[in-house]
Amino acid sequence: MVWKVPLASATRLPSPRAFSTSTTLFHRATGAQIPNTSIRVFREIPALRQWRRKQRLDHRSVGLVPTMGALHAGHLSLIRMAAADNSAVVVSIYVNPTQFGVHEDLDSYPKTWDEDCKMLRNLDRELSEDGGNLGKIAAVFAPTTDTIYPSGIPSQEVDGKGSFVTITPVGELLEGASRPIFFRGVATVCMKLFNIMQPEKVYFGQKDVQQTVVIKRLVKDFCMDTKVVVGATQREPDGLALSSRNVYLGTRRRKMATVLLRTLKLAEAAYFSGCRSRSELLGPAEDWIHHLEVEQRQNKPEKRASFLLDYISLADPETMEEIDEVDEKKGAILSGAIKMLPIEHPNDGEDLGLSGGLPVRLIDNIILQAA
Ligand code: AMP
Repeated sequence: MVWKVPLASATRLPSPRAFSTSTTLFHRATGAQIPNTSIRVFREIPALRQWRRKQRLDHRSVGLVPTMGALHAGHLSLIRMAAADNSAVVVSIYVNPTQFGVHEDLDSYPKTWDEDCKMLRNLDRELSEDGGNLGKIAAVFAPTTDTIYPSGIPSQEVDGKGSFVTITPVGELLEGASRPIFFRGVATVCMKLFNIMQPEKVYFGQKDVQQTVVIKRLVKDFCMDTKVVVGATQREPDGLALSSRNVYLGTRRRKMATVLLRTLKLAEAAYFSGCRSRSELLGPAEDWIHHLEVEQRQNKPEKRASFLLDYISLADPETMEEIDEVDEKKGAILSGAIKMLPIEHPNDGEDLGLSGGLPVRLIDNIILQAA
């Protein structure tokens, strides 16, 4: 017997009467799964733990790819990596409220359950066509907030109370300085996911490089039995890093959005040409982006795509602390963040992006490899 389950908003699997038009199926015998696949959908911890125990008994390794959904090719590249390394891949899809500050875009964060299921189904087929050398996407873990925060959602205030994992000082720098509760929320939810799933390996994208440093520190300092694997940043043909938030840009801001990568590439070019000091590496790049920032502000309102530079950083790869000189034995991380401002004077019929052109924060980075 198969029913359809609208999973995106329900807190529990609904009664058969409520089953309608989502892409998730519910089988009496096996629980929910994505149609035409063997991908199980777990909403609750006990069933997932039971499944996990069976994997261990069967000597099947489990790789976990944590996501907030709105899947794109960046997420898929991590799932492919996980399938190359493990028998079973679990993709978690959960928009974690505790990493969003009170004034951030939690409510408008894209939630695309049906499209996500389709992408996973297509990737599952692609993996199975590889002749059996790759692991399978075995499960999606899409918990409710009651499951992840059984004592209630802790505060989203900086000094709020709750059961938190904090990783400092790295979590306070750069992205953490602009978004003070962000890494507390990320570390807390990842600790929970790792505890629930006990994966042999976990997969994170270099796109969020500071997050990878925080997670490595979490695993090391809390003696967790998992290995952190980092996958390369996937990009659009013009270099813009793929991000679930790019849908908010619209045409005019999308063209301007590559400014951050172009700035980082100027600094990288200086590194390739032999520069090692902070001023030589960042000076010309910062001058260039400041110039563009002012140029946009002074442009005609119907043409401009204004942005604010948050930071350009040259940091130690293990601590993310700013450095004055690159040690060639360690390399360094060049990273930056900008905020694309709303279009002030939209032209008739102009594509302003999803939700009509909210401010969009963009981050990117380049690793300066050790010599
Ligand atoms: P998110 O759903 O944005 O929380 O991202 C889930 C995972 O996908 C994180 O480990 C991200 O770093 C990774 N990710 C996001 N964008 C990209 C990208 N463009 N390339 C590679 N990995 C990415």
